[in-house]
Amino acid sequence: MITAKSTLRQVPLWQRELARAITDPAELLRVLELDPALLPAATAAAARFALRVPRGFVARMQRGDPADPLLRQVLPLEAELAEMPGFIADPVGEHAALAAPGLLHKYHGRALLMVTAACAVHCRYCFRREFPYAGQHSGADHWSTALAYLRADPDIHEVILSGGDPLSLSDRRLGEVLAELARLPQLRRLRIHSRQPIVLPERVDDGLLTLLSGCPWPVVLVTHANHPQEIDAAVIAALRRLGAAGITLLNQAVLLRAVNDDAGTLATLNETLFAAGVLPYYLHQLDRVRGAAHFEVNDIQASAIMETLRQRLPGYLVPRLVREQPGQPAKTPVA
Ligand SMILES: *Cc1c(COP(=O)(O)O)cnc(C)c1O
Ligand code: SF4
Repeated sequence: MITAKSTLRQVPLWQRELARAITDPAELLRVLELDPALLPAATAAAARFALRVPRGFVARMQRGDPADPLLRQVLPLEAELAEMPGFIADPVGEHAALAAPGLLHKYHGRALLMVTAACAVHCRYCFRREFPYAGQHSGADHWSTALAYLRADPDIHEVILSGGDPLSLSDRRLGEVLAELARLPQLRRLRIHSRQPIVLPERVDDGLLTLLSGCPWPVVLVTHANHPQEIDAAVIAALRRLGAAGITLLNQAVLLRAVNDDAGTLATLNETLFAAGVLPYYLHQLDRVRGAAHFEVNDIQASAIMETLRQRLPGYLVPRLVREQPGQPAKTPVA
């Protein structure tokens, strides 16, 4: 029986937190007690790619420190507006790889489904910052084309939910996606690429855990954390709950200048993640997207960092340093 109580279901905490995210550069500077002189550049750069950051993530930043490694990932800067040779709108060739609207099929056995354009946080270095999402996510009519493509290919054994951030979907919408995928007999695994357990740990609630533990295949969740300061007690609790639900947890990070471009920071990141049940997967060399040149770490420096990591950590805590190259059948290891 439908009761008044169940029809007036409360908006989940994570959705309320998402709606309260900071999107106004002036507010971000005020909350962090930063110099208002940063505002004109932040406003100009935010006009190209909007500022967005959940308040819980901001709370992990150091007040008064314009060089805070978490802030640097989200604060729009003047440097984004400079045209830099080689930094382009679609550096990984996503347009060419679209198999159906919202579906990327670049690698054998795996297909990547962009189920939403929305993210809880806007990372300034994101390779999709210039991606024309409109019409690419699997909304109403596109969804059926992507599904038909998946049904027609018995060799796709793994679907990767991506975006945007797939956990931006409501539980109801996510449940619909999972139910459609459960009709594909060839699927052996489901993978989810999401930054939300890190930037919005409230997302890992009972509703989500019920959905994921009800899946008919093993579920792999690949989180995205770049700096140990991102991992606070709430994040650890969220990761442990996911692990306890039987989900395999991996992390991918992006190597970012003045954020995590030293072996000590990365070693601490991977030790911290491991303590919460997460193994490192990839360390990505930056995709050369327009507006992100100031984050680039060159391959020589990157390789030196990897060498130090290998000396310092057990092998299973050393991520693979890779780069995405258009037209390649897999991520390319950086020597
Ligand atoms: C990165 C990526 C994958 C996953 O690659 P793995 O090496 O399996 O992690 C799959 N499809 C696309 C389009 C990708 O960009
Ligand atoms: S959460 Fe991921 S997809 Fe979204 S802006 Fe950040 S890096 Fe890009």
